[in-house]
Amino acid sequence: MTYVIAEPCVDLKDKACIEECPVDCIYEGQRSLYIHPDECVDCGACEPVCPVEAIFYEDDTPEEWKDYYKANVEFFDDLGSPGGASKLGLIEKDHPVISALPPQEHDE
Ligand code: SF4
Ligand code: SF4
Repeated sequence: MTYVIAEPCVDLKDKACIEECPVDCIYEGQRSLYIHPDECVDCGACEPVCPVEAIFYEDDTPEEWKDYYKANVEFFDDLGSPGGASKLGLIEKDHPVISALPPQEHDE
């Protein structure tokens, strides 16, 4: 079980959650952030600070965003477990589920 970042983060990435994570397991892709499923310790600190409610406990992810669980897991298929997001910085890719989305508009 882990936490998942879903569609509201796409093209927003305000990064409020990164500040809260005690294990630095929230990684930055080009259009979204991704929680590492094995590095996340399920503390829940990130979930309430997200201004657009993009973060869900795996089991609580809304039905229409169920694919985002897979996206957060598969994003790390070729990265393995880097053990810290800050040293990687921006990772120049996204999961295909996110790449396929049209530009997302956000009310700022
Ligand atoms: S706080 Fe929410 S919108 Fe901001 S980067 Fe994190 S998941 Fe994305
Ligand atoms: S639940 Fe805790 S460990 Fe997992 S991503 Fe959020 S802040 Fe980090």
